This record gives sequence, C-alpha cells and structure tokens, in this order.
Amino acid sequence: MTHQLVECVPNFSEGRDPAKIRQITDAIEAVPGVQLLDVDPGFDTNRTVVTFVGAPAAVVEAAFRAVRTASVVLDMTQHHGAHPRMGATDVCPFVPVEGVTLEDCAALARTLGERVGRELEIPTFLYEHAASRPERRNLATVRKGEYEGLEDKLKDPAWAPDFGPARKHDRAGALITGAREFLVAYNITLNSRDKNHATDLAFELREKGRVARRGQKDAFYSSGELLYYREGDFPCGNCGEDFPTFGELEAHCQAAHGYDLRHLLALNDIDASKGVVGKKVHRAGLFRECKAIGWYVDQYKRAQLSINLTNYKVTSPVDVLEATRRMAAERGLVVTGSEIVGLVPFQALFQAGQRYLAAQGKSPHIPVGDVLENAVFSMGLADVSPFEIEKKVLGLPRTFEKGLMALSCTAFVDEVSRDTPAPGGGSIAALAGALGAALASMVANLTQGKASREAEPLLLQAAKQAQRAKDALVLAVDEDTNAFNAYMEARRLPGGNPAEKAAREAAMQAGLKSAVAVPWSTATACLCAMEASEQAMLHGNPASITDAMVGFTLAFAGVRGGIWNVLINLKDIHDVAYNADMKARCAELLATAQALLDRATAHGEARLEALLG
Ligand SMILES: [Zn+2]
Repeated sequence: MTHQLVECVPNFSEGRDPAKIRQITDAIEAVPGVQLLDVDPGFDTNRTVVTFVGAPAAVVEAAFRAVRTASVVLDMTQHHGAHPRMGATDVCPFVPVEGVTLEDCAALARTLGERVGRELEIPTFLYEHAASRPERRNLATVRKGEYEGLEDKLKDPAWAPDFGPARKHDRAGALITGAREFLVAYNITLNSRDKNHATDLAFELREKGRVARRGQKDAFYSSGELLYYREGDFPCGNCGEDFPTFGELEAHCQAAHGYDLRHLLALNDIDASKGVVGKKVHRAGLFRECKAIGWYVDQYKRAQLSINLTNYKVTSPVDVLEATRRMAAERGLVVTGSEIVGLVPFQALFQAGQRYLAAQGKSPHIPVGDVLENAVFSMGLADVSPFEIEKKVLGLPRTFEKGLMALSCTAFVDEVSRDTPAPGGGSIAALAGALGAALASMVANLTQGKASREAEPLLLQAAKQAQRAKDALVLAVDEDTNAFNAYMEARRLPGGNPAEKAAREAAMQAGLKSAVAVPWSTATACLCAMEASEQAMLHGNPASITDAMVGFTLAFAGVRGGIWNVLINLKDIHDVAYNADMKARCAELLATAQALLDRATAHGEARLEALLG
C-alpha cells in the first residue's frame, strides 16, 4: 500500500529537431504508469532535459526505452552543442520523491546501467550517489574528455565502464546514470527593487559564503572593508577573531563555526595547500547544500533571492526562509513571500507545514490538506504568482476523485441501502474505522497545549497514529469495493484447454488472496485507531471522554468487520497452509482488540460515572 514515486531527469543530446525528441518522449510515455512532466529543449546547447515520474519499476523501464530510442534516433558523430556531453542519452539521474530512498534510486541506476550495457552494448558509468568509486561521484570528472575523447578514456583501465563493453558506441557514445537528491528551486521575495539587498542576504545563506569584511557602516555586510590573510595574521571571516597561523584558524573554524575552512576556500577557487597569504578572507554561509544569488525580477518589480537547494533533507526551504526573515528584519527589509520554481516533493512542503503548526503550539497531526495549506500561508507561496497544490506538489497522497468517498454522506448511505451487493460490509467496516480514528485524532488534538508535560507526547503520538490510520482507512473504503477486480478479471481468462484452465485457476487464487489483503489491512488499521482512541481517552480532556469512547467502539466494529470479511473470503482459497495462517492471525488480532475494548470501555464507564457523581 505504500506509495512510491521516483523522478527521472534524462538529458538527451538533441535540442533542435522536435521530431526526434518526440520519438524519445513517445517511448517514455508508452510505459503504463509513467507521467511525462516536462520537456525542455535548448537550441544552443543542442540538448533536451526531460522529466518524468512513476513507480520505481515503471520509471526504469521508461528510462531504458528512452536510452534505446535515443541510441537509434540520435547520432553522436554529428552532434555539436554548447554543453559538455558524452552520449546520446548523456546523463540519466534517478531522484527519490516519495516512499523511496536515495539508496533505492542508486539501485535503479545500477539496474538501468546493467541492462543498457548488456542489451544495447553502450558503456555505462555510474555517478553521484550510485558511483562505484569516489572519483566517479562528480559528473564533470566522469564526462571529462566528452564524446570525442571517449575512445581514449575507455582504453585507460581506471576508466573501465561500470557496465557494458569498454568500447565506444559509435552513435550513442556512453551513458552516465546515477542517483541524486531532488533539487528544489526556491525564490524569496523582498519588499525592495534593489538587487543588492537580495544579494547581501543570499551571500549570508549560501554554502559558498562571501568575501569577509570588517567595519560595516550600515546593516548591510557589504558596507565593510575587505580583509586579507597576512603573514602572522589570519582573521576568522565569521567572528573576526585573529589567529597567528592558518592551522589555528582552521581548527577554530571547525570548533567554533562547524565548517571546514579548506573546503570553503576551495568553493571560492582558493587552494589552501598552496598558501593563502595575500588572498581575501572568506566567511562561510549559514547553510550546506545551498546555492543562492540575488536578482531583480522585472515582472514582479521586486528583488529576489534565487536559491537552489541541492538536498532539501539537509537544508529545507523553511530553514532558508526563516533565516532570511530574521536577517531582513535586521536590515529594515521585509520578506513578502516566496516562490517554488517548478515542483516540490510532498515531504518538503508537508514538513514545513508541520513545523509552523508546532511553532504555533498546534498539533502538527491534522489532515494532510490542512498541513499543506498552512505551509502555503506560512511561507507566502502565493505572493507573486498562484500556488496550486495539485500542480506544484509531487507525490501527494493518493485519493479517490471518483467513487464512494467522493459521494456526499447522504448519497453514500443511500448507495449502501440499494439492492446491489457493493458497497458492503467491507467498505462500511473501513468507514467505521476511519470515523473512529478521526475521533481519536480530534480528542488528542483538542487537548494539545493544555495537557500535562507527561501526557503531551503521548497525545501527539496518538494524533499521529490516528491520522495515519484514518488516511489508510479512507482509501480502504473504495479499495474494498475494488478488491475483487483481479479475481473477476481472472475469471474471464480463457479456459479452453487444461493448461489454460490451470493458469486461470492460479490467477483466480492469486486474485482471492489479494482480495483478502484489503479487509486484513482494514482490521489492522482499525486496531491502530483503537489504540489511539484509548490513549486519547486516558490522557485527553475529560469532557471529551464520550467522543473517545465512540471512537474506539466504532474502530472495534472495523476490526470485527475486517476479520469477518477475511474469513468469508478464505472459503474459496485452496491453499490450506495460507488459510490456517490467516485464521490464526485473525484470532490473535481479535483477542487483542477485544481485550482493548473491554479494558477501555470499563475505564471510560468508570470515569463517566465519576463525572455524573
Ligand atoms: Zn570565528
């Protein structure tokens, strides 16, 4: 049930012939479940950047087909363009968006590379997070020599390809594939038209930092005098303290400010091993994995900080926004809002919303849509242009736009009452559990900020667990009604001869087992809702006790209903061991739920009696 989404951003060495680019993107779109998000051709670079997303297996398949098509349609012997390149598909990174890790994406790159090497005989190098050795992490190093130098490069044993033959593919050159984090392009808007205002702030943020100065005449750092490293005098760019040797300064930067001075200087094209005397002193910026400049945008009549966050898990948009808001205030400036350029992964925005809610003393465990809306408001994302969550956020949780959960409550109840078998007990069990979980979340969140120090984390945990169960159960309402689709499709398979009959029977059995999985997950999610309800009752506001009691009673109905639906589906499954195992698991789950119900009901009723006096 986990929702997995991977982004793939291949670059192709063709930016001028739309027909050829079209053939490549058609090959990508032919893979079911893959969504083409963007095609960005460049005439001067003669290169096209394509972006698509999908589940991991589908994305690798689409990437393979794209590489294969490019190797046929494009011809590197004829290619010229103003961008370094080594192959027809020049670089093909996989990027985690939702439910997958960077390591998972590195595995996808290896899967693609292995297949490209074997089936297409294109030499393939792995880079960045998928690199097989440290010196291959950097794309520029791997691509050095480009297509024209590839033949010689492959003769060097140090540059043996990770996959495929150690000889150039004449038309396609070589493929470079790998894994990297999602790049978030993020702009912060000021109440100023002065580009220098934005630049001053951007240089404070970015990892590369800025040239250090001293003796500022106003709040802007650039108003100070330049500083140089001198013999016997090595000032710290960040705090201004002076050190007699470079080594002592280096140790100070690490201990006091947490950065590697040699790395900082290298980012600014200074090789510290060759000596720094006479060079400008540098000051480290606040954030790693952060690039930033200032610019003026005529369309908005405003100065902006233009920021690239190369790993939003290390430095998030909220991190840079809040630092900018603080520093802007010190300079008499106002941040009027901010802007996501292109797309943003769901988690980046969701965590931002949760952070602002927590800062306001609110529970961050509220409906997903409310959290995202809070992020949009808090970050001022609709300041200079509209922000449509559906269009801008990648990897949003799955919802059913059609179906039962899109009906009004009245229409839903009427639909259940009609003389059709579906929706039936399975969907209603899931809905009962979802409502139970919702009540648990409500009670836990109502007490947020008012509970004791000991109870607060327990209530937050209960709200989190309840929200998770609720979201799963809302999906299960429709999933239960669709659960028999695979079984019904299998029944329609041909059965003309014994082999076909056996295949049909096997597909029907597999379909039945997947139909069992839905009510089973309904039952387990309902138990989670019961646990959350009990915690909400034990630690929540006494006035909400009956809400919590209704919650766990409804969730128990969901456990019961889910289990009944599992059991009735077992009657047509012939796998004896599977049936025995499922029956035992059902019995155990029911016993746990029953004990919880008895305990929580007794506790609730005792407290209710005490309230009544
Ligand atoms: Zn210092």
